[in-house]
Amino acid sequence: MKNILVTGGAGFIGSHLCEKLLLQGNHVICLDNFFTGSRKNIEHLMDNKEFELIRHDIIEPIILEVDQIYNLACPASPIHYQYNAIKTIKTNVLGVTNMLDLADETKARILQASTSEVYGDPTVHPQKETYWGNVNPIGLRSCYDEGKRVAEALMMDYHRQHKVDIRIIRIFNTYGPRMAKNDGRVVSNFIIQALKNEDITIYGDGLQTRSFCYVDDLVNGMVALMNKEDFMGPVNVGNDGEYTIKDLAEIIIDLTGSKSKIIYKPLPSDDPAQRRPDLTLAKEKLGYEPVVHVRDGLMKTIEYFKTVL
Ligand code: NAD
Ligand code: UDP
Repeated sequence: MKNILVTGGAGFIGSHLCEKLLLQGNHVICLDNFFTGSRKNIEHLMDNKEFELIRHDIIEPIILEVDQIYNLACPASPIHYQYNAIKTIKTNVLGVTNMLDLADETKARILQASTSEVYGDPTVHPQKETYWGNVNPIGLRSCYDEGKRVAEALMMDYHRQHKVDIRIIRIFNTYGPRMAKNDGRVVSNFIIQALKNEDITIYGDGLQTRSFCYVDDLVNGMVALMNKEDFMGPVNVGNDGEYTIKDLAEIIIDLTGSKSKIIYKPLPSDDPAQRRPDLTLAKEKLGYEPVVHVRDGLMKTIEYFKTVL
């Protein structure tokens, strides 16, 4: 049994991770400031005596006795991370520094939730970990993508200077139950619109692509990386099936049997044109293989949103 800290544990991915770590027999400390997370996401874990909840903001230091730290605290959807862009940068700089200091102090291993956004609007396709990215440093997304790039740099510098035991995972678009219904990401938006028979809003021409990973696959990859010896990443984890946003809209209309029509709205600035992970490294080092097909994962997510609406 390990003592494991999950920052951002009341969020979408964090809540699934806490669940998995408890199932594996660990003691889990979930830390969250409840900006985008909610108590509802972890309600079912509250009676477990191995589960603790701390309301705290990682931009303030904290001391805890832990063996492992999963640092997920950071809003992930464009609407939320742009709501207070300066706070997003602070979370990725001050917050990550605080978590690295904690890891240094307690000799804990720390895993940073990085993102495919570090590749920006990629000129290399699919994206390999060796690609350095094409990021606008002054755009609307930069609080998040440059923030996450600094977070990776900090992780590497703490490793080189203080020998902190680090892991870096680059997460590609992940979806599933407990996505916040107001967070504006494409999967939740389209499912909610379809279930309500409202217009489905495609931004731009809908020919931009993304690769969608079901949350259980992602969490398996995350735990595998944390527990792998002699490999710190960065490593891409996601699903390498690639869909246009228009394809996604059509699949969701089909799966929900919705009467929704597709409408087109302006494309937000710096919206990446294409994205697909090269998963060779994850397969080789972690034996990682996503197993949930997008239609099955979307059905589970649709069932979840039916209960929420
Ligand atoms: P989410 O918004 O549901 O979860 C983030 C959690 O962090 C929330 O519970 C929020 O309240 C908490 N939080 C935010 N700022 C905090 C702070 N300063 N102190 C303490 N808690 C704070 O998002 P998610 O989709 O679950 O993403 C989790 C992590 O994975 C994030 O770091 C995100 O950048 C990364 N990620 C997610 C995706 C994806 O597709 N979902 C893709 C790439 C990377
Ligand atoms: N998108 C869309 N309609 C929506 C929400 C998003 O067409 O209602 C598009 C968005 O412009 C982007 C893609 O879907 O091209 C994925 O958006 P999301 O915010 O989910 O993730 P990210 O852009 O961070 O990959």
